[in-house]
Amino acid sequence: GAETRQKRGNEYVDTPSDVDYVQAFLREYDVQHGLDGMEKVRNLLSILPILNRHEGKTVVVKYGGSAIGAEAALDTTLQDVAALRMVGMRVVLVHGGGKHITALLDKLQVPTRFENGYRVTDEAALEAAEMALSAQVNKAIVRDLARLEVSGVGISGKDGGLITAVVKDPALGRVGSITRVDPRVLTTLLDGDFVPVVSPIALGEDGDGLNCNADDAARAVAEALGAESLVFLTDVGGILIDSHNSKTAVDHMDVKRAEELIDTGLIAGGMVPKVRGCIHAIRAGVGQVSILDGRVEHSLLLHMLGQRASGTTITG
Ligand code: ADP
Ligand code: MG
Repeated sequence: GAETRQKRGNEYVDTPSDVDYVQAFLREYDVQHGLDGMEKVRNLLSILPILNRHEGKTVVVKYGGSAIGAEAALDTTLQDVAALRMVGMRVVLVHGGGKHITALLDKLQVPTRFENGYRVTDEAALEAAEMALSAQVNKAIVRDLARLEVSGVGISGKDGGLITAVVKDPALGRVGSITRVDPRVLTTLLDGDFVPVVSPIALGEDGDGLNCNADDAARAVAEALGAESLVFLTDVGGILIDSHNSKTAVDHMDVKRAEELIDTGLIAGGMVPKVRGCIHAIRAGVGQVSILDGRVEHSLLLHMLGQRASGTTITG
């Protein structure tokens, strides 16, 4: 190994450096334990500067309804959240849960229909939405975080005046359009090292609940917090030029191109509020905005470490 020349008396002699001792120690340790300690150290040294840059930075993660499901046991997103917490990131999770609302409405035998991609939400549907989102999905995420020793606090947009909304369209019933975000409840939790888990139920200006699109909620929260990053985790590999062909996923596009794809209808359905959210957030100063494939293992962590992850990053 590398040796340092040290002066002993009048002559220079080669003596093992501290690095040699550490290397020898690790080799011995590896032999005894059957580990490759040196490889771990090298990996750690390559990643530490990147991790260090994240300390104290805020990331808002939209955890898609589609990304939370029966395969939750296989889901690595919350493990990634735990890792980001360990490096001192301030992480806010905003979740959806359309499938869970539908399942609960089915169970309660409340009929439901969609108009322009929005669920027509009467009082009964709003009650079910609150049960599915703020109780079932929200508390399941908090529980799964607890299993990873992460202290999550589940709240809705109603709590602490976080999200205020107005009725989007009277024909849709209790569907909200976000008018205001007061992030104080989030900063208080983040300062206390908690991970806020937010369900997208807002307080209406009329004092009643409103069901908001979770992508809009995540976008609005990220802007209000002045977050460094906003990540949408979903069930496709990012923005596809042909929504039926996963091979047409685009790694990167600018705001102008994203707007064109919405205007021409190539971006449709549930992808529209995500991409609109990306565009709005970039213009509001959120540094890094991406739509990632939540089905791919560790896509969140890969992305945060600056590695290629399956999905699309949008820039200004
Ligand atoms: P989430 O639960 O993550 O919000 P959504 O179903 O609301 O998921 O939105 C993602 C869906 O948007 C995709 O599964 C896909 O069916 C649809 N979509 C429409 N156009 C596109 C497109 N150009 N690229 C990718 N997905 C698209
Ligand atoms: Mg959606």
